Amino acid sequence: MSRTALPEPLAEGYSRFVNQRAPAEQALYQQLGQGQSPHTLVLSCADSRVDPATIFGAAPGELFVLRNVANLVPAFDRYSDDGHEGSEVGGQGPLTATAAGLEFAVGHLRVSCILVMGHARCGGVAAALHQCHHPEIAEDKGSGRYFIDRWVGQMTDDGRQVLADHPGADADTLQQQLEFRNVRQSVERLRSYPFIASAEAEGRLSLHGGWFSITDAALWWMQDDGSFSSVEA
Ligand SMILES: [Zn+2]
Repeated sequence: MSRTALPEPLAEGYSRFVNQRAPAEQALYQQLGQGQSPHTLVLSCADSRVDPATIFGAAPGELFVLRNVANLVPAFDRYSDDGHEGSEVGGQGPLTATAAGLEFAVGHLRVSCILVMGHARCGGVAAALHQCHHPEIAEDKGSGRYFIDRWVGQMTDDGRQVLADHPGADADTLQQQLEFRNVRQSVERLRSYPFIASAEAEGRLSLHGGWFSITDAALWWMQDDGSFSSVEA
């Protein structure tokens, strides 16, 4: 395969876009060329099955989407005082990519909602649970899980709490409980960012949690008590 040609699945998709969607949305793209004003920031997992624009039927320009492994919000206090890229706090390495997106969307684009959206069968959550059972972290950068372990290591305290709260539970239950807890904790950690806390206090920003079931394509929404209920469409 030539490096200068698009791989076939991408070429096919782009052809459909150019021939079908782009002409139909020409006016929208013209307008978006002047700037963006998304109403919502969605932080979702990088998982290929969980696409916020698809789930919410969103047009280009509606959602500001951040994606990382396991839809994690790093705690504000994990950054050094100057928030410098590359600062190694708590051995977790640079975490500023997600924070930069939050800062831009809330402070500059002034989105009115943030949704942290977890999902079923999350590989990042599974990796965090695995780490709870096998706490030795790979030190070899060629191990194939060096960076994964460091990233999902942000979730292992929550994983240990889930294990303590559900003694004897089966693996599927533990997995789902940590998926829920991780969303709850990530929403709570959003409030550790001063620009988010002040925007929420001013009433111009609301924070939400969700969870996507994948198999039956159902969205569950986090309630005030931290539980999750399926959404009536
Ligand atoms: Zn995931």
